Amino acid sequence: MLTADEVLAAVRVHADRVHDAVRRLGCGPDAAVEVVEHSAIDLVDAAAGEPLAVGDPVGWWFARARALGRSLAGGDDDLPVGGGVLGGDANQVRLAEALESRPERERAALLLRDSYDLPAGAVGTALGLDAAHAMEVVGAARLAFLPALLGGTAPSLTDHVVDLGALARLAEGGQFAARDATTRRHVQSCDRCAAVVDAQERARRLLSGLTVVALPDAEREALLARVEGRARAVLPEAEPEPEEWDDEPHRRYSLSLMALGVVLAGGLGLGVGLLVSRGSPVSAVAVTASPLPLVTAAPVFSLPPIATAGASGSPALSPSPRVFLITPSPTAAPSASATASPTPTVSTEPLALELNPSSGPNDSDITVNGRGWTPGATVTLQYLERFRQSSGSTASAIVDERGRFTTTLTAHDGQDLPGPHDVVADDGTQRAQTTFTATG
Ligand SMILES: [Zn+2]
Repeated sequence: MLTADEVLAAVRVHADRVHDAVRRLGCGPDAAVEVVEHSAIDLVDAAAGEPLAVGDPVGWWFARARALGRSLAGGDDDLPVGGGVLGGDANQVRLAEALESRPERERAALLLRDSYDLPAGAVGTALGLDAAHAMEVVGAARLAFLPALLGGTAPSLTDHVVDLGALARLAEGGQFAARDATTRRHVQSCDRCAAVVDAQERARRLLSGLTVVALPDAEREALLARVEGRARAVLPEAEPEPEEWDDEPHRRYSLSLMALGVVLAGGLGLGVGLLVSRGSPVSAVAVTASPLPLVTAAPVFSLPPIATAGASGSPALSPSPRVFLITPSPTAAPSASATASPTPTVSTEPLALELNPSSGPNDSDITVNGRGWTPGATVTLQYLERFRQSSGSTASAIVDERGRFTTTLTAHDGQDLPGPHDVVADDGTQRAQTTFTATG
């Protein structure tokens, strides 16, 4: 079970981000504070009452706040478009407007991963997905976000076999996971995928400059004190016994919270309320005369002026001392079909699931193509062993607006048995299967 200190560390670190997310759902100032406190108390109670159901506590908290916030949203004109709170900053208004133009699920994915820099696992828990699916949603959302902000069109991956989640991870730089090595090599020789990675990197960088709307100072300490009181009452104080660390999922969460604790320990030295914006060189609390305390300091980027009649020349220079200009790519492909449709329509093609190749040695990579699936849905693919036990080889793909998807699945059979193996695809509402023949 999580300890009181572990949960409280997560609450203190993320309280402002949860508040920001709820404001951007359209909750007014009072409703947003209420949602932050209520959802934090719910997190404490869930960690005490059903710890296995909590999973990633930070992701769980955002999911709960998102659900509560949606029920209380409305009646606020300040956010998300920034008319009041952030209205003095044209860049922040444009970011907020571009975010608001996207479906709520995409907006949540972008805020959580790129603006708040949460781990993919936490983003997945918040969205009700695993980490791999969450990165696919983030990747598609980034591609749709950039045209919403800058105009133009997103690079297209239609009819192109690629792992969108891997591209989304590659766009974040840093250490590359071994599982993404194949995609990384591909990107180095594929102009289309390179354009997608570039667009995603730009979207992430822009979103990292979002100003987080912090909890009002007048509410913060009393709110945190009430959450702490509840946590001390219902959660254990001590570390779990050593043998509990053999429990793999539990261990992962504990380590994740320990990492949060390290972040917290650094942050507390500068005072509660400090939030160091990811990707920003600024690490000091901005003291402003704004009616609400804003956590991040002056923006570190400048957007080109809103295009008139498609012109993209002569972007204005910002008076900010740290400026980089982002202009729409002149080489953007003429289609935006890599993005999820906000209003899914029913595909007119008959349901189909095709494998290429349809036979080969064990551990072959199979290209899986689908048609007639539910637009916007996530299809989960399973490669089954002989006699239909799960082999553990899975893949997933997001269905495009025409009802099509393409992804790669490994024909892995741990027993290396030749013969027919079922491949099952399921998007939550539709299901299909076909056969791959493993050769001896
Ligand atoms: Zn490619």
